[in-house]
Amino acid sequence: MNYSDNKRLNQLNTLIEMTALITSSLDSSAVNKLALESASKLLSAEAGSLLLIDHKTGELFFEAAIGAKSNEVRSIRFKKDLGIAGWVARNCEPVIIDDVMSDPRFYRGIDDVSGFETRDMVCVPVMEKERIIGVLQIINKKSGKFDGDDLVILQTFANQVGIAIENAALYEEAVTDGHTGLYHHKYFKLRLKEEIDRSKRYNYPISLIIMDIDFFKKVNDTMGHSSGSAVIERVAEILKNVTRAADVAARYGGEEFALILPYASFEYGLEVGERLRRTIEKSDFNGIRITVSVGVSHYDGKGRDVSSLDLIGLADRALYMAKDNGRNRVEGLLS
Ligand code: GH3
Ligand code: MG
Ligand code: MG
Repeated sequence: MNYSDNKRLNQLNTLIEMTALITSSLDSSAVNKLALESASKLLSAEAGSLLLIDHKTGELFFEAAIGAKSNEVRSIRFKKDLGIAGWVARNCEPVIIDDVMSDPRFYRGIDDVSGFETRDMVCVPVMEKERIIGVLQIINKKSGKFDGDDLVILQTFANQVGIAIENAALYEEAVTDGHTGLYHHKYFKLRLKEEIDRSKRYNYPISLIIMDIDFFKKVNDTMGHSSGSAVIERVAEILKNVTRAADVAARYGGEEFALILPYASFEYGLEVGERLRRTIEKSDFNGIRITVSVGVSHYDGKGRDVSSLDLIGLADRALYMAKDNGRNRVEGLLS
């Protein structure tokens, strides 16, 4: 076997490995990032980007970018009539370009922002079934030029990326509540179990918040059901804003919410509960004012065995204490 056969075989092996890796992940941001990293590695390239189509506006935006100054390009959005990526998105056809400067489709604007100099490029459509959802563009081969095999390999990979993106989106849809975008009850219970197991195994603390809107029936009765639902949506946004990357925010029931806080002390749990209470009390929900009662429970990760039901039961009891003690309050109970 000669050198170039060997190189191609390595590339195919990488293709198989990367495909297995991305299609086994259900986390869309991880899929996108990994897809791009794999693609640039597959083609031994300096840079690249995964652009997705915003189907509402028809614009392309940078979902992920690697290479020098990749951060700069992430805020750019552009119409499909611009650039090589735009051409690929419009025509659903892959392209390979040896010298982008002499190609009239090339749009300099992005290089101007990134300070990057694009020399050559392979750009392929990413499809979800029959519909184009984005474009994978790989830039500047480290040595030599991109060839037809590179194009075939990248397109093969991009087809799997499309499947992986679709799977992650379907999973996201299956575990979230359509109205608020928060995780639903079933997923919350599953995650709480996992997080408590992890907390026991590594002896780190965990706090749980359950929050219920006060006198919400009155909101529905006086303002109507759809205004009530809009309030629930806004409260969900406030909840998302206080969450850290590791936290799990869920819609626990109709107007009840839950927040799992891994690695969180009891004090931190109470602090987050208080922050939620105060933010909601001060917010104007389209002319509607509401308050919430909050229950916090905590497990230190050491002591006696605690189940997810124990932790939920404690947070529930704390919530009822908050209601009994006059509402618009935070109460906490230690396990
Ligand atoms: P409390 O302070 O004791 O919690 O009083 P409350 O009136 O909030 O009582 P409760 O929590 O029992 O009632 C919740 C109400 O929330 C009942 C239900 O009709 C309403 N609700 C649940 N989900 C939704 C929703 O998605 N939209 C609207 N508009 N109302 C909802
Ligand atoms: Mg309730
Ligand atoms: Mg209520």
